[in-house]
Amino acid sequence: MKPRYYSLVKELRRAFPQPVSDRIHDAYFGHAIMQAIDQVDAMKSERPMLGEPVELDFAAARKCRIDDDSATLEDVTEKLVSYLSGLFVWGHPRSQINVIPPATIPSIIGNLLPSIYNPNLVSEETSRSVALAEVEAAAIAADLVGYDSSQAAGVFTFGGTGTLLYAIRTGLEKACPGTAQTGLKEEAVVVCSETAHYSCRTVASWLGLGAENVIEVPTSPENEVRTCLLETMLRDALKAGKKVAAIVATMGTTDAFGLDDLKEIAEIRDRMVDEFSLDYIPHLHADAVIGWAWSVFNDYDMDANPLGFRHRTIRALAGTRRRIRHLSLADSIGVDFHKTGFAPYVSSLYLVKTQADLELIAREPSSMPYLFQSGEHHPGRYTLETSSSGSGPMAALGSLRLLGKNGLRSLLGHLVTMSDTLTEHLDGHTSTHVLNAENFGPVTLFRVYPPGVDTFSVPAQEYSNPEFRETLLAHNEYNRRIFDEIQSEALQGRGVVISLTECYRETEYGAPIVALKSYIMSPFSDEKYVDAVLESIARAREIVGQ
Ligand SMILES: *Cc1c(COP(=O)(O)O)cnc(C)c1O
Repeated sequence: MKPRYYSLVKELRRAFPQPVSDRIHDAYFGHAIMQAIDQVDAMKSERPMLGEPVELDFAAARKCRIDDDSATLEDVTEKLVSYLSGLFVWGHPRSQINVIPPATIPSIIGNLLPSIYNPNLVSEETSRSVALAEVEAAAIAADLVGYDSSQAAGVFTFGGTGTLLYAIRTGLEKACPGTAQTGLKEEAVVVCSETAHYSCRTVASWLGLGAENVIEVPTSPENEVRTCLLETMLRDALKAGKKVAAIVATMGTTDAFGLDDLKEIAEIRDRMVDEFSLDYIPHLHADAVIGWAWSVFNDYDMDANPLGFRHRTIRALAGTRRRIRHLSLADSIGVDFHKTGFAPYVSSLYLVKTQADLELIAREPSSMPYLFQSGEHHPGRYTLETSSSGSGPMAALGSLRLLGKNGLRSLLGHLVTMSDTLTEHLDGHTSTHVLNAENFGPVTLFRVYPPGVDTFSVPAQEYSNPEFRETLLAHNEYNRRIFDEIQSEALQGRGVVISLTECYRETEYGAPIVALKSYIMSPFSDEKYVDAVLESIARAREIVGQ
């Protein structure tokens, strides 16, 4: 007689993919996935949300415990699906919330396959050909941004934040060699713009540099770093004897799609090396987690325009290209496929121009005795991660292979066209004012004004004249109320879900400018949903009144 546990094990074997081909069980496995997809499908509606809005009860969640007995696959699936209730559908045309893309089906399959077979990217021993997928995705991205792909290398990591961590860690080792062993012995700074992502500060604090050592350079109204101030502030830091761990150029800011002048920044960096006779070259990182995708337009023939974009779109694409085409001047680049590559979370690539830079952050093989018994490809020597999923590169490849250059160009071109159409319509109304008209991405930041406000003069006065502080703050509050109305209408399936940013940027006198934000990422977006934003604003103004 077999012990009781054994029959449980036998039962549970059915809940695993079979190790040896079993077509009947494969059908069961496939059916289980289909069942989940079917159940999610039943949660879809005209609303840009799955199921119903839910009140989140965290107190009840903390009381959750494991059951004594096993459950069936079907029961667990149903439970898991229920967690999707209330989730926004980023791919819904009524959803214009943030830089979160819907994922393509091949990228979802790319994400899924490794979760069945658990390749570990730490080494080729454990990832086999999935290691090639990582190298291929990196090679494709390197070539797109203009790196020599025979010199470049890349590693997938845990988000855009991770790419910044790798970059600043690398730069720190250049500026202060040996820090990995000895710890930080001198003050080192990171230089970025005030509209750079907050993860620059996160990384500085986690690396022990200290968030206070992130020098945030003011930006122009176009949300680009003021390069003359960058030069001054960099010079001041060097004069004060500080090391420069990294200069971060933001190539596509999170809120407004601002693009730093990377070429000018690289020239400033080189000048500083001469001026101070530095014995290291400060690491220049391009945080292009959003902007990288526009590199597909580097070789697009804007005059012949074979894809037939309208003139205004061509202008917008050219406006972005004039910055993005210099990406290869950076020593390293952050790429998020889960932002503008239409891939599921998490798919982020840290790219370096020269492979040797990865050696700067490598560990001694003797410190990892159980790894790397064979082969030559061992990313785990320099990655922060030990276990590392193959899902990132496989998902990235899924989207890249599906779309090709022209697919990605068409999708991005469409999103930019939609966003530009919104800008055009908002410009045509006296009650609205577009804040980032000179940024050419899929995001539009704007403010709505109460009746009677002169939107030709007031926005400029609010921005620069401290006497308008109270007016600005009152209009901030007005925009919050407009947002609440738009939001509640959208959740009922009318209008569009947009978002609100509490501080699009600060005024010249240091007050926060609240803005409404439309981030168009859905391939299903269309002009009628752009109109829906305007109609919704009009209804919200009626309700909010003065
Ligand atoms: C989103 C974003 C990040 C952080 O990336 P995650 O993938 O969310 O970790 C960093 N920089 C910029 C400019 C971003 O927009």
